[in-house]
Amino acid sequence: MASEQDEKYTVFFDIDNTLYPASARISQAMGERIHNYFVSMGLPEDEASELHHKYYKQYGLALRGLVHHHEIDPLEFDRACDGSLPLEEMLRPDPALRQLLLDIDRSKTRVWALTNAYQNHAKRVLKILELDDLIEGIVFCDYRTPKFFCKPEPEFYNSALQHASITDPSKVLFVDDSVSNVRAAKQLGWGSCVWLYERGEEWIEGGKVVDREQERSGDNNEIPGVDAEISNLQELRKIWKHIFVEEKNTP
Ligand SMILES: [Mg+2]
Repeated sequence: MASEQDEKYTVFFDIDNTLYPASARISQAMGERIHNYFVSMGLPEDEASELHHKYYKQYGLALRGLVHHHEIDPLEFDRACDGSLPLEEMLRPDPALRQLLLDIDRSKTRVWALTNAYQNHAKRVLKILELDDLIEGIVFCDYRTPKFFCKPEPEFYNSALQHASITDPSKVLFVDDSVSNVRAAKQLGWGSCVWLYERGEEWIEGGKVVDREQERSGDNNEIPGVDAEISNLQELRKIWKHIFVEEKNTP
């Protein structure tokens, strides 16, 4: 028998660089701290950069490589990196984004977050953005478990469905600023997978600047493997019209 939850849509919002703009430059600050962590392990600057990037590409998170190859304590890493970010000075609430979340029809939609960060960082960001009361649940990378998964690994998405008691992935709507993360969700049959791409903003992967235009292909200049590309979350009002309350004026 289907539960009440099965009949509802679930929106999963990525947090970092999705619920706040890339211009906050938090990924740059995170990258610096992760780099410093590698250096603190005794690596020269250039080797630290290479290994940081290599682990990011190989494991989806630099930390995964550190745990696997260097027996790093993930919680200590989290305190030294994400935990030391001066987020209160870097982020500010966006009333238009809060209104966007308020305008989602909760009688048929649940609103969750899905992040590669640990819960401490996720909760901190949501609180500073004044969105914590509007997010019903957070799926995070659980650094406390010996082998934790992260986006874009299928195991992470599948555990997210389990965690949120979702049995029908076609009723999931997902938005993330990482095209790999969006594609991975689409491959698993998630209903609507949207890529948030802020043109002109520098994008960092594993401590290095990445050119995201390279993802485009074909005559249509499209990004394969995603349902839609947006440059601002407010565009979700059109793309996901069916989950918003009707006749509400946009702010
Ligand atoms: Mg992100």
